[in-house]
Amino acid sequence: MNCYCDSLEEIQGFGGYGHFQSTLNVMNNNVINEYFIKIYEGTDRINYKCTNCMQLWSLGIPDFPVVGYLMRKDQDDFEKILEQEFSEEAWKNLHNYYLKEYMNLDENLKKYADAFSIPEDIKQILLCKFGNGLEEWLNTSVPGFGGRRPVELLVNDIKLKILKAGIMRMLE
Ligand SMILES: [Zn+2]
Repeated sequence: MNCYCDSLEEIQGFGGYGHFQSTLNVMNNNVINEYFIKIYEGTDRINYKCTNCMQLWSLGIPDFPVVGYLMRKDQDDFEKILEQEFSEEAWKNLHNYYLKEYMNLDENLKKYADAFSIPEDIKQILLCKFGNGLEEWLNTSVPGFGGRRPVELLVNDIKLKILKAGIMRMLE
């Protein structure tokens, strides 16, 4: 099967808002047809992943004088974006917020989570969010992490930063 990516051309800069709008319509249809899934939508860009070859694409939204773009992104680029986005202070605030909720969780649930080797702050936030679905989530390919399984990011400090930035996006 040919990949739907083959029908897309990279656009370094849109020729106007109409050009962007028609490209956005094409991508919206691609999502409806399940050729792509939308993995991130922000004010400045929308990221997609091809459901066939897993290629990442980023659609930059024009905002004068920014002209926007449609570009292929590799996994490393995607992780770089998350890494740059990460803010230690914002993470601490999020953790403090969830810590109160964590304190009130069932003791058995906390014991369940203690079995996983995950840094405390990450574990506490995720347990509030997923409860006993935590293990399943860790092992599921998550669109917000460029299709990676969160467990793959529990390996070093840089990957942890990427995981935290992804969690922050998810909980925004
Ligand atoms: Zn593809």
